[in-house]
Amino acid sequence: MTKSAFILICGRPNVGKSTLLNALLGEKIAIVSKKPQTTRTRITGILTKGENQYVFIDTPGIHNPKTKLGDYMMKRVNDSINDSDINLFVIEAGTRLNEAETKTLASLSLRGGKTILIINKCDAVNKVKVAETIRDISENYEFESVIPISALTGDGVSIVFDEIDKLMLESVHFFPEDMITDMPEKQLVAEMIREKILRLTDEEIPHGVAVVIEEFHEKKDLLSIRAEIYCEKESHKRIIIGHKGEMLKKIGTYARQDIESFFGMRVYLDLWVKVKENWRDRQSLLNSFGYGDKE
Ligand code: GDP
Ligand code: MG
Repeated sequence: MTKSAFILICGRPNVGKSTLLNALLGEKIAIVSKKPQTTRTRITGILTKGENQYVFIDTPGIHNPKTKLGDYMMKRVNDSINDSDINLFVIEAGTRLNEAETKTLASLSLRGGKTILIINKCDAVNKVKVAETIRDISENYEFESVIPISALTGDGVSIVFDEIDKLMLESVHFFPEDMITDMPEKQLVAEMIREKILRLTDEEIPHGVAVVIEEFHEKKDLLSIRAEIYCEKESHKRIIIGHKGEMLKKIGTYARQDIESFFGMRVYLDLWVKVKENWRDRQSLLNSFGYGDKE
């Protein structure tokens, strides 16, 4: 008897959703960053363990959108809510629910979904705080279970699997056993490059950066990729390129290493930086950067 489940990972920005996805998969698929609003679209991680197939869906953080890109991100969250069998609602130990989170919890329960509350970052606070958080939230909401974890150290992650297993229903597997994501290869590569920019540049720049893969082809044992990095200002472009091109070179080197290890082949990576003002609020640009409404 095989089982499968679509498992949504949702919660406010920065609570550790992408870290949890990577911990569950034992593989790095999603971008993890100290900067909020890193995950822009839904990211699927697939894991097949024996009879069970888990399809995890990492989502952008729950927030009140202020740009068209923000609208797109919240739409991805809401679409995903409608597709899931099980929800992992992630919060940070020691925090209280905000308005956007309360709304999402309400729509989860409206759908009659099975929701597990995950209290993350338990490594960073003391046990009393964790207990307080559990008490505060369980007073007002009902969950299938409440699991304190640390996605960073991996503590409690196996319990997450145990609890999911209890809720899984009999079903065919929807994906091949060896498949780990349904994200297109180009999108994965664009995300790997964007992650390096997030990591290496200052606060101001990351939110206004988009990466578009213009060329992606395999020749013999070489994967040849040309990517365009879009930012919002000339001054940002200068920072991304860096003194004598040093920053761009660093971004390229780290990205290439990741891409090579993911695809298991040599990679030639060609990066270009361009300026498109206010692209986060221009629908036609959002569409061409892959944040459009049609999927
Ligand atoms: P997301 O926005 O919810 O996807 O959050 P991320 O997974 O990108 O993580 C946001 C930040 O929190 C990163 O700096 C992570 O390293 C950190 N983080 C995630 N999980 C934990 C955890 O269990 N403990 C601690 N101390 N930090 C964590
Ligand atoms: Mg994320």
